[in-house]
Amino acid sequence: MGGNNGGYKCGCPSCGSPMRILSGTDITVTEKKFATALYGQCRNFGCSLSVAGEIAWTHVLKPSQLPESKCQLPLSPYLLRSTQAQAEAKKEAARTKRAAAEQNEEMLKRIEACRANGMTRRETLIETGCTPIQLRKIWPERVAPVRRKIEACRAAGMTRDDARRLVKCDRKTFSAYWPAVPCADTQHA
Ligand SMILES: [Zn+2]
Repeated sequence: MGGNNGGYKCGCPSCGSPMRILSGTDITVTEKKFATALYGQCRNFGCSLSVAGEIAWTHVLKPSQLPESKCQLPLSPYLLRSTQAQAEAKKEAARTKRAAAEQNEEMLKRIEACRANGMTRRETLIETGCTPIQLRKIWPERVAPVRRKIEACRAAGMTRDDARRLVKCDRKTFSAYWPAVPCADTQHA
């Protein structure tokens, strides 16, 4: 409607009436400015002011989605900051990841050294401060077959005597995995 050109209402500088906008073809394109020359004519017959001017784009608020955008305008300060922040966050994440990988590598080497020095798994865990997962990676826990059998019997609900007859091992080993006398205050079934 009158004077509303593409959403922007241009008013006459003289009387405030809507202007008729006639755009010229002159375009100023620099890295800082993308301008189109415009001509305007007041629609108020009594006024009839004619003016020349330009419309200029100066900052990018949201980058073009085109893969080969020719726009060279500077980013808005906000966009610039958030782009830099994103790049910084990406770099930081990569740094953290690299540091973690190096630390892990270092830890695995230390575990290996402890093992080579004849330490036990438990001693290694305390000495290096590694996690059980890291320890297992270098030094898999070997569950004694006897222990596995005893635990299986127990899980199956066998009595201790039956299990002892089934699992052929010495009394001491058996007791280590299935203590003979349960604690008085935590009587198990
Ligand atoms: Zn006017």
